[in-house]
Amino acid sequence: MKHLFLLLTAWCFVVSCGFAQSTGTGGKTLPRIAIAGLGIESSTFSPATTNEEAFHARYGPEVFNAYPFLMPIAPLRKQAVWLPTVMGKSLPGGAVTREAYESLVNKTLDSLKKYGPYDGLYFDIHGAMSVKGLDDPEGDFITRIRKVIGYQTIVSTSMDLHGCVSWRLAQNSDLITCYRMAPHEDAMQTKERAVVNLLERIKSGKGKPAYKAWIPIPILLPGEQTSTRIEPGKSLYQQVAPLADHQEGIVDAAIWISYAWADEPRNHAVVVVTGDDKEKVAKSAEKLAQAFWDVRSKFDFVAPTGTLDQALAKALASPKHPYFISDTGDNPTAGGAGDVTWTLTQILARPEFKRADGPSLIYASIPGPELVQKAIAVGVGGHVEGTAGAAVDARYAPPVLLNGTVESIVKGDKDAEVEVVVKVGSVHVIVTQKRKPYHKEKDFTQLGLKPRQSDIVVVKIGYLEPELYNMRADWIMALTPGGVDQDLFRLPYKRIKRPMFPLDKDMKTPDLSAQFVPLSGTSK
Ligand SMILES: [Zn+2]
Repeated sequence: MKHLFLLLTAWCFVVSCGFAQSTGTGGKTLPRIAIAGLGIESSTFSPATTNEEAFHARYGPEVFNAYPFLMPIAPLRKQAVWLPTVMGKSLPGGAVTREAYESLVNKTLDSLKKYGPYDGLYFDIHGAMSVKGLDDPEGDFITRIRKVIGYQTIVSTSMDLHGCVSWRLAQNSDLITCYRMAPHEDAMQTKERAVVNLLERIKSGKGKPAYKAWIPIPILLPGEQTSTRIEPGKSLYQQVAPLADHQEGIVDAAIWISYAWADEPRNHAVVVVTGDDKEKVAKSAEKLAQAFWDVRSKFDFVAPTGTLDQALAKALASPKHPYFISDTGDNPTAGGAGDVTWTLTQILARPEFKRADGPSLIYASIPGPELVQKAIAVGVGGHVEGTAGAAVDARYAPPVLLNGTVESIVKGDKDAEVEVVVKVGSVHVIVTQKRKPYHKEKDFTQLGLKPRQSDIVVVKIGYLEPELYNMRADWIMALTPGGVDQDLFRLPYKRIKRPMFPLDKDMKTPDLSAQFVPLSGTSK
């Protein structure tokens, strides 16, 4: 009900604003561009599920806040009548419930129905959403959007490079692109490029690019092996911009790594190039696809890897601190449940960390709403005893018993809601009301923790996000169990296309020639 009210007031604002701005300087009619999208990557190998609330959906004008380049003073804002509908972004997690998906899709469709027609639609998605009982949700979503907006509207889709591009998604998108960096430091730049290209096609009257070349590549690799900070990902992705941005007749080009923790036929790498010059479009796509295939065997983890025991032994013996250990199997930003207790249980059982003056270790993090309530009840300095974690994913270890002193309590985080630090022996355990990724230095310092002075920092993460990477004195990725196990050979794939590199040895060279996807609304 609250949402309905918000939706109505939001729309009144947009519509009046829209009509007021429908002509630009010089009396020219401004194009009408809708904005919609849902973003999540969700693991089908995790028992966790994702509900609607997790998307923190924005409605109407609230959507503008997601895009600095569409702020009121931004030049782009004045170049069209923007009609934002629904924009939802969730932390990665388990598969989305069908109910949550239908609800968000229907809210989007209802908004789109009211305010058409549209010259353009900016479709902002991640591309690796899994929904219970539904294949290729983004393909389903755009197909249903097309039924509302028709095929005259030019759709520009921007994605995460860990998304999947089905034939259906490619066909219903007229422009389609993704990030060129992992970690995704160019996320906002990519979204802006998708919008700028869309506007340019509308304003110039060129319309839909005449050609879309799509090449599926039978490669499925974890993101932790395909960072663009190091080779071969670095050189591979450096080939995108010269082909995409500086060639007459090409609108955009992109390489999708895809997502290794979902089990659908669409989970594999893809290259798409869009443009008006048929030969250049095909050649550019084939060049990128071949370049990817040629370096397939060179991808490796971006940091040394080992078992947790090996990782702890190295960290304890090292003179370099802080020594970061990635607890990779349950990385919540890749789709892990985020509440696997296996690693923390192993750490707390080690004799080195039993004494308060042992090597200092920060563990980030474990959800434990009951323990958080107990900590609030006793307050900072109080003693707390209770269990945390394993409410969602208890396949590897049961809830972990924490018996220690409450060092801080911080309320108000968007994801965690409440964060508590409990000191157990020499380990500072961050316990959260709800799961939260720890990617920034201030995520630690605002809890009173000093990660730079800590001997060891263990984070549920894969590759380190930039601030942690810059802080590390040394780093190892522990190949721990969880819903996003980095050892793909341990995952029970049944539905991905085979053969697939690296799962199937001695594959024949695949056909990497360009396949032209029909323009949206046509069969050729
Ligand atoms: Zn990604």
